Amino acid sequence: MVVAQCRTKIVATLGPSSSTHEVIRGLALAGADVFRFNFSHGTHDDHAARYRIVREVEQEIGRPLGVLADMQGPKLRVGRFADGKVLLETGRPFRLDLSEAPGDASRVNLPHREIISVAKEGSVLLLDDGKLKLIIRKVGDDFLETEVLVGGPLSNHKGVNVPDLVLPIPALTTKDRDDLAFALEMGADFIALSFVQRPEDVLEARSLVQGRAWLVSKLEKPQALDNLAAILDASDAVMVARGDLGVELPPEVVPLAQKRIIREARLLGKPVIVATQMLESMISAPTPTRAEASDVATAVFDGADAVMLSAESAAGQYPCEAVTIMNRILEQVESDEGWRMIMQASRLAPEHYIADAIAHAAQQVATTLAASAIVAYTHAGPTALRIARERPIARVLGLTPTIATARRLVLVWGVQSFVTPADKQVRDTEAMVSTALEAALKSHVAAPGDTIVITAGVPFGISGSTNTIRVAKIPEA
Ligand code: PGA
Ligand code: MN
Repeated sequence: MVVAQCRTKIVATLGPSSSTHEVIRGLALAGADVFRFNFSHGTHDDHAARYRIVREVEQEIGRPLGVLADMQGPKLRVGRFADGKVLLETGRPFRLDLSEAPGDASRVNLPHREIISVAKEGSVLLLDDGKLKLIIRKVGDDFLETEVLVGGPLSNHKGVNVPDLVLPIPALTTKDRDDLAFALEMGADFIALSFVQRPEDVLEARSLVQGRAWLVSKLEKPQALDNLAAILDASDAVMVARGDLGVELPPEVVPLAQKRIIREARLLGKPVIVATQMLESMISAPTPTRAEASDVATAVFDGADAVMLSAESAAGQYPCEAVTIMNRILEQVESDEGWRMIMQASRLAPEHYIADAIAHAAQQVATTLAASAIVAYTHAGPTALRIARERPIARVLGLTPTIATARRLVLVWGVQSFVTPADKQVRDTEAMVSTALEAALKSHVAAPGDTIVITAGVPFGISGSTNTIRVAKIPEA
């Protein structure tokens, strides 16, 4: 059974629990739109094998699927311990240094000279997702002497977060550059950048990607929030990466950060993904907690473009159940009258240029006529993005000549995409209408007798020229 497509999209991370054809197909049929490949884990061969399966499934189910390659970024980690782990006691000193010798209860390797070089007395280091807390008491040439503020067990290669410092490191490590080249070669539609701190981080990646994928900046450092407007401007999309963000910032700050990021991304018409711990308990249980269901619903009410599953689909026991339940929550919220009113009330004023005026007008015409769909001719996607920015009640169908654009639009709120066959390139108004009607029917966004609103650029075939609205009716069967 194919489930109804929701306006809010689902990003499902693939991993050991979701590497077979059967499971990946199951995730797609349950409502997953974009598959996230986490380059912090797995080999290039693992990713290539999953990529082939995603493209097979895409063919089988007849709907474009997006692939998001998530770069590990400069995730800081401690080295190894002689016994694999130690117990750090609160109030005791603990040293982090550049020596590769295995660690013990008094010291461990921190293979990042950059941190030591910018560290300041009094700065805090968080270990293992914030479970342990150290305060720097002394900065040496090649070591940091700290005091344990909150102790606990610490094992090999646990993560280190330094919330107070802007690290003088680029968002792309040597490993990331290698992974990035591989992901683009593979055919990824989106590249996610971890621990972005500055717009320059995004621009650096952009010069490598050269338009071959959309760039998704993961907002997980307080510094990124300080530079939010500039980072949004440099990015094609963003992710509210609540996992690391919630380590670097106190948890009570995360909900407001989420709302602020969504608001600012929507203002620019850039897709925004809400990520991490959405259905966390489903890693090992077949149903979510009520609080988790509410968390997903909140993201939908905020008007996020997509919600994401991490370990739930990648490493949990119930990957397909997690997508199914997520999709059901989206369906419930999106059928609620209160949600419609919120979408309407949060509608943003159009910007002062032609395509935006058309997008705004198309939404108004569609609402006035209770049209089922707005069918948008779009080359690289901007027209569909501007219509999605209106958060219209009507479905949005992006008609594009390229599969690459169709796959990118899969991430965008309310947009379904349809590839117009090469021999069907529209040359006149009659063809514009008939092709749109046919695509709307085939994509099930409209039924016989329904009204649709079409946007296009005249003269036809020129990118970035959207200037026309047309209303049409699908003939009664
Ligand atoms: P990660 O990013 O899962 O790659 O750490 C998401 C997050 O931090 O929330
Ligand atoms: Mn993260």
